[in-house]
Amino acid sequence: MKCPLCDSDLVEKMEKKDKAVFKGEEVEISYYIYHCEKCDEDILDSESLEQSWRKIWNAYEKENNYQSHKKLKEPRENLNLTQEELATLSGKSKYL
Ligand SMILES: [Zn+2]
Repeated sequence: MKCPLCDSDLVEKMEKKDKAVFKGEEVEISYYIYHCEKCDEDILDSESLEQSWRKIWNAYEKENNYQSHKKLKEPRENLNLTQEELATLSGKSKYL
């Protein structure tokens, strides 16, 4: 990793912890920054920041059963309906 500002190799990767508010609750996010010793600038690693937010979002989804309700239950219910409809439409009983 080279400094995008001065192109020097004197770049140090550092973990940064921060507090942020998500859905009205305080959460801790951690991400990386690169500190350039030569120009004394901090460069944000936006990818690690995004990953940190994704973790928070995933935990929120899990806590609120977003995935199990919306992604797992609905297709199964739809499938049952389809099987019933198919049985009715084809005029076949499942006891045959
Ligand atoms: Zn620099």
